[in-house]
Amino acid sequence: TTAIGIDIGGTKTAIGLVASDGAVLAKTSLPTDLTISPYDMVDRIAEAANRLMAEKELRPSDLLGIGIGAPGPLNTKLGQIAEPPNLRAWWGFPVVNAFKRHYDARIVLENDATAAALAEKRAGAAKDAEHFVYVTISTGIGAGIYSHGRLITGATGNAGDIGHMVVDPAGGDCPCGQRGCFEHIASGTAIAREASVLLGRPVSTKEAFELAFSGQDAAMEQLVRRVFRHIGVGCVTLINTFDPELIVIGGGVSQVGAPLFDAVSGYIRDHALNPSGRRTPVVPAALHQDAGLIGAAALVLTDY
Ligand code: ADP
Ligand code: ZN
Repeated sequence: TTAIGIDIGGTKTAIGLVASDGAVLAKTSLPTDLTISPYDMVDRIAEAANRLMAEKELRPSDLLGIGIGAPGPLNTKLGQIAEPPNLRAWWGFPVVNAFKRHYDARIVLENDATAAALAEKRAGAAKDAEHFVYVTISTGIGAGIYSHGRLITGATGNAGDIGHMVVDPAGGDCPCGQRGCFEHIASGTAIAREASVLLGRPVSTKEAFELAFSGQDAAMEQLVRRVFRHIGVGCVTLINTFDPELIVIGGGVSQVGAPLFDAVSGYIRDHALNPSGRRTPVVPAALHQDAGLIGAAALVLTDY
């Protein structure tokens, strides 16, 4: 049995055929065209998925279902996109119903970080965990929460939106209206923004890290240390709240590797409240660019 996994992002949409063991049989991606109607975009996505089906000689009856991961806020109860800042043209769009025009199979919608957490559970770094939190640090910050062997999705699919958990009330105004939100301080976007202020020219997240680790730029080093500390603050709150066995960190910023993981583990060791929490392993995500579509497909391949 096979599922279609669709990971809708602000810039691109990844589409894959995924087998029940999590293997990606075929995949493709399309730019998410925000200038056309979302209904037309759904038609394009379905066309691309149908091409993959034809390539693999699969018929609609071979399909167990269609899983969709999309940025939040959304409303999974209604099958709708709610108000994601990077998908404004889709606000209020009934994405599940739009796909129903193309498929008879079951269609499931969850937020993208929740789907990626399920992918890490099925085929990645959290295979053996019954309790873990997946944190993605990319353009924004989000989390998927897996507890007691199940995903915690909340009433409308918006659980885990930790990007707007306050980690430092002195951390500046977040567009959401609060001050010092996690993603306003520690996302890739935030790092690049602050580094650019420091140097008075555009600086990418990657360059900010390179300068910080070069030993030549004390201010940049301080900035990066502060960001890692705030990621530690966020993780300690997750540990104190959910008592996970494991924290998995993915997303573009996690590519910086050991310096981040060591700093975050150190902060947790010094600040988590309970002795077992202080030893919570913090590990890199195992699935990178395919996590979104594997997770989306897993929404219909698993009883989560
Ligand atoms: P998206 O947010 O679209 O899911 P990513 O997960 O790739 O995309 O995250 C993008 C963010 O990660 C950007 O802020 C980018 O600068 C940062 N990033 C990407 N690669 C690296 C890297 N190797 N080192 C540090 N930061 C990176
Ligand atoms: Zn916020």
